[in-house]
Amino acid sequence: MDIKIQLTDAPKQKPDTAELGFGKHFTDHMFIMDYTRDKGWHDARIVPFANLELHPACTVFHYGAEIFEGLKAYRTADGKVQLFRPMENIKRMNSSADRMSLPLLDENDALEALTKLIEVEQDWVPSAPGTSLYIRPFLFGADPFLGVHSINRSMFVIILSPVGSYYKEGINPVKIMIETEDVRAVRGGTGYTKCGGNYGASNRAGEKAEKLGFSQVLWLDGVERKYIEEVGAMNVMFKIGDEVVTPALTGSILPGITRKSCIEILKSKGEKVSERLLSIDELLEALENGTLKEGWGCGTAAVVSPIGELHYNGKKYVINNGEIGKTTQELYDTLTGIQWGRLQDTFNWTYPITK
Ligand SMILES: *Cc1c(COP(=O)(O)O)cnc(C)c1O
Repeated sequence: MDIKIQLTDAPKQKPDTAELGFGKHFTDHMFIMDYTRDKGWHDARIVPFANLELHPACTVFHYGAEIFEGLKAYRTADGKVQLFRPMENIKRMNSSADRMSLPLLDENDALEALTKLIEVEQDWVPSAPGTSLYIRPFLFGADPFLGVHSINRSMFVIILSPVGSYYKEGINPVKIMIETEDVRAVRGGTGYTKCGGNYGASNRAGEKAEKLGFSQVLWLDGVERKYIEEVGAMNVMFKIGDEVVTPALTGSILPGITRKSCIEILKSKGEKVSERLLSIDELLEALENGTLKEGWGCGTAAVVSPIGELHYNGKKYVINNGEIGKTTQELYDTLTGIQWGRLQDTFNWTYPITK
């Protein structure tokens, strides 16, 4: 793929590590590529970071034709920059594009776009412990008409944001509210895609939880409100007895790359992992009879996030005395060890950007 590169003549000052936060600062450049039905993807370019100019009738503003991805570039102790399983993100983006009738990307071109942009911006990958460069590819419908129709024009954009450590004050187990009213997704819908609309549908419950002092919502399935699906924007796992249980990918659950990696790590250590239906009744029973040992969310941003308390219909249940459990800690150490290059990558998951 031919990528034109136009470098900025006004590079920004890089923010202090302590002020990074999440998604507040952006690098000097971004990647853009256009799609039209007759020309396909064309005009791949890296340009100075700037506002996008879009027609007010642009499809994405009215009919929600938008998908995205989230991954990180990590700086290792010897100064190299690497990605974690980037092809998994690209494949998932194409699966989302297919569901939303948006144009698919050539996988190798998408990887080249990612690689090239990060190469250009490599000085923006922070090096303090726990910090990284968050990568946000997104793709949306861009026809300048209001008629509801198939999409003829799209844009693929990648922006980069240096982010701080998710756990500045150490890993604190979080309080979770089990949502019984709103649902995030239904089978046959878009739950398994990373589309903006899923987040739109989640906002109300998220806000309610926040007001009540919880960090996240635990979602139940959209039909029976009976089966555990996800926690906030993370997949969820529970250790019940000696079995790690995570909801099976039934179509309304996002197939997380962290989820997949946790399963592979656990299996490689000979642990028992089941991807199956997990009902709220089974979970409450395990909480009451003491067989529920640990619970955690997993996703790129937090890696793993231990669950200290679950609240359901006004009742509070404490997990593992509100402390991080052994399996949760081991997964955290293994994943972050591989991502930041402290552990040998026996799974072949890392992808080097700089030599
Ligand atoms: C992105 C996301 C996840 C986590 O996926 P990872 O690939 O592990 O980052 C889980 N659930 C939802 C709803 C998500 O959007």
